[in-house]
Amino acid sequence: MKLYSTNNKDLRVSFQEAVFNSLPTDKGLYMPEIIPQLDPAFIRNIQQYSLQEIAFTVANALIGDDIPEVDLKAIIADAINFDAPVKFLSADTAVLELFHGPSYAFKDFGARFMSRVMGYFSTQGDKLLDVLVATSGDTGGAVALGFLGVEGTRVTILYPKGKVSKVQEEQLTTNGQNIRALEVEGTFDDCQALVKTAFNDKDLNEALRLTSANSINIARLIPQTFYYFWAYAQLKSQGMSEVVFTVPSGNFGNIGAGLLAYKMGLPVKHFVAGTNVNDTVPRFLQSGAYTPKPSVQTLANAMDVGNPSNWVRIQDMFHNNLEELRAIISSYTYNDEETVKAMAELYERYKYIACPHTAIAYLASNQYCQDEPGEYASVFLSTAHPCKFPDAISEDVFAKIELPKGAEDLAGKPKLATEIPVDYEVFKSYLLVNN
Ligand SMILES: *Cc1c(COP(=O)(O)O)cnc(C)c1O
Repeated sequence: MKLYSTNNKDLRVSFQEAVFNSLPTDKGLYMPEIIPQLDPAFIRNIQQYSLQEIAFTVANALIGDDIPEVDLKAIIADAINFDAPVKFLSADTAVLELFHGPSYAFKDFGARFMSRVMGYFSTQGDKLLDVLVATSGDTGGAVALGFLGVEGTRVTILYPKGKVSKVQEEQLTTNGQNIRALEVEGTFDDCQALVKTAFNDKDLNEALRLTSANSINIARLIPQTFYYFWAYAQLKSQGMSEVVFTVPSGNFGNIGAGLLAYKMGLPVKHFVAGTNVNDTVPRFLQSGAYTPKPSVQTLANAMDVGNPSNWVRIQDMFHNNLEELRAIISSYTYNDEETVKAMAELYERYKYIACPHTAIAYLASNQYCQDEPGEYASVFLSTAHPCKFPDAISEDVFAKIELPKGAEDLAGKPKLATEIPVDYEVFKSYLLVNN
């Protein structure tokens, strides 16, 4: 696979280079030069294959020239070792549960695959790969657990003290091995600024081999296509073949992967993006003017993004053409009050406990079904297990949540975190002294 930059269509880099750079120096995003088409016979018979077999076929079409088959199979077997089941709430409405991985959120797909790809490319006697990541909660857990024990890598996670939930903090701070947690006496923005300064620090980059585990990394996008194919396979085995996917969206990486799957030949009738009040994309689809705003804090905080960094990729896939975009994507926006109501409704109607992000997808999928009635399966994506968001869910409903396997063990483990102030010199010396 060769990739260009959305800001420079003449640039060509290898997959390996794109993985380690995360983004081109011109601040565009990497895009595959050619989006491969899957064999129509594979799609027709997709219900015969397992998630891992589907993942291999899709990944091999994209990066088969970069990673030999046996190695790619091993990476997938190791990374994608949990299910993504489609569960029907009614005859034509279903939820695709993406939270059965170790951090109980869909980001496990991206983080686990990327970590193993980075480990794979790093094994040839290279210096230890130092991954720096700032998190407001969900990304950090997926990255920590994704890289845990991956040879040749070390992860340093910065999180804002007192601003992540209990389960999230446990996932960040109980790992040991090659994972280090820094509890920063500041906000998520402070954490991000520290990491950004580190990436631009010349001495530090000479001493350490730094990389980001950014959500725009192409190695995170690819594995997120797998579950769209897998969901389609599950629907096909039930005799359905018309599907609309609704995706709770923040940075638009998840829905971007769905659109890439579509471009590779997955038959999808339409995509719907549900957002919280950070509504830059729905406003754009309405008006045609892209006017990002500073992010606003909401209950669905993993989607508090005012300027979605993956949107450029989506625009690029559809030739920056508003009409083409509108033909395949609709988008709706919801405030916290509506989100809380939706969580209550999901519980009352279906006894389904959803996280706030998932509830927004539920609302958007219902809205689309009203606006565009027809014969299709409406599948909304559940991006996280509700146990990660105690502050967003009413106490009596929260008490009824069945904790995923391992959540209780996590609570018993000692917390391993180093507190640091918002001071770049302190952060830098931590990295250098503990090398
Ligand atoms: C990251 C995240 C999202 C948003 O996904 P994007 O790819 O950024 O659009 C939605 N829900 C949860 C739970 C998340 O962690």
